[in-house]
Amino acid sequence: MDLPNSLHARDIAHVLHPYTNLSLHRTEGPLIIERGDGIHVVDDQGNRYIEAMSGLFCASLGFSEQRLVEAAVRQMSALPFYHSFGHKSNQPVVELAERLLAMAPVPMSKVFFANSGSEANDTAVKLVWYYHNAIGKPDKKKIISRIKAYHGVTVATASLTGLPNNHRDFDLPIARILHTDCPGYYRFGRPGESEEEFATRCAQSLEDLILREGPDTVGAFIAEPVMVSGGCIVPPATYFAKVQAVLKKYDVLLIADEVICGFGRTGNMFGSETFGLEPDMMTMAKQLSAAYQPISALMVNARIFEAMVAESEKIGTFGHGFTYSGHPVAAAVALETLKIYEERDILGHVRAIAPRFQAALRRLGEHPLVGEARGVGLVGTLELVQDKQTRENFPPAMAVAAQAGKLAQAHGVITRGMGDNFNLCPPLIITERELDDLMVRVERTLDDTARWLD
Ligand code: PLP
Repeated sequence: MDLPNSLHARDIAHVLHPYTNLSLHRTEGPLIIERGDGIHVVDDQGNRYIEAMSGLFCASLGFSEQRLVEAAVRQMSALPFYHSFGHKSNQPVVELAERLLAMAPVPMSKVFFANSGSEANDTAVKLVWYYHNAIGKPDKKKIISRIKAYHGVTVATASLTGLPNNHRDFDLPIARILHTDCPGYYRFGRPGESEEEFATRCAQSLEDLILREGPDTVGAFIAEPVMVSGGCIVPPATYFAKVQAVLKKYDVLLIADEVICGFGRTGNMFGSETFGLEPDMMTMAKQLSAAYQPISALMVNARIFEAMVAESEKIGTFGHGFTYSGHPVAAAVALETLKIYEERDILGHVRAIAPRFQAALRRLGEHPLVGEARGVGLVGTLELVQDKQTRENFPPAMAVAAQAGKLAQAHGVITRGMGDNFNLCPPLIITERELDDLMVRVERTLDDTARWLD
């Protein structure tokens, strides 16, 4: 039993936790993390864990990168805050924008900064509307997302998110947000249907939706290259080529949500490169700063930017921005992060180690509890099923993946069981030895989960 003034008890008394069963939290309490080193974190009891989720898919460089600490201190000493409203600017923000534009997989014109993935995507929604007003197409405002997508939690981005728990009892989604098929081949492909045929069916379904709604009312389509939170759904072969052909046909903008895929996760700098997306807008966050500072970015192409210029001239301003858009400390840390990625050839490391990770993941796919092991680069999932043949998942109330996540902690691994999925997304700096160690612990966790189910 906790002492009433323990951190544990004070947390229960005072902290409202995101994405937590609030009732269970009263009895279970928090896991308090005190410090980190490399890919590990240590709790207040001295237990050490491999952070197999990079926190929330973000701590790409682990938990003790001194260069990022020093970059923050340097910038704090020089200029701890300034904003970018009304023509103001600062050096880190200019350099970061330049660098991001040089890295973009397709020509992009400008970068807008915000603090979170949700804010970047929310801004993208507003720009779809602003842009279409600017070009005289005020009806072309609907945005199509996908079932199982994750784009954030603001009113608009939770609406884009295609997961029931983000809508239920929040009175979402809002109007003008639509959802098309999830491209999960394992779950939604039909018996005898090839991946390519499934991709054709998904694209056809998107086209049918656009035609039903009226092409003049559909402004944009938003997609994560890999739908990570929705269950690490890697697009089936030819999917994005077919989807983009439909978007072009009806003049629908493409927004790539690179919040997780961006900065090396899939083995290229952006998931758009891995899967051939040519977006009009791109959002990014998380690994942009290796999570050492909250910062996100939205890139827009010239076509969108030029329309925005004309619109803001007409109105007198571009009436959007956050107090911390282009925060100099966050920008300095992000800039240093991008330098580290380049100097240490993080992409080369991901490309070298990813086949080992994916092979180990596929081996765990043989486990009786695992229906499918899937992933790309350094992200993957084990989808847990109660019957490998029928692919039937466990009843949601059993929360088997969440239980597996809990059991993993006893093996010194932090991960997050989400829905039916046991996710793995280790820091990009993980070594071969650490990876092998992680996968042994994951296998033991699956065995424990099977025993727990018996
Ligand atoms: N987009 C994707 C693909 C994400 O995975 C997330 C968060 O996990 C978001 C957007 C929202 O980002 P944030 O939690 O920083 O608002």
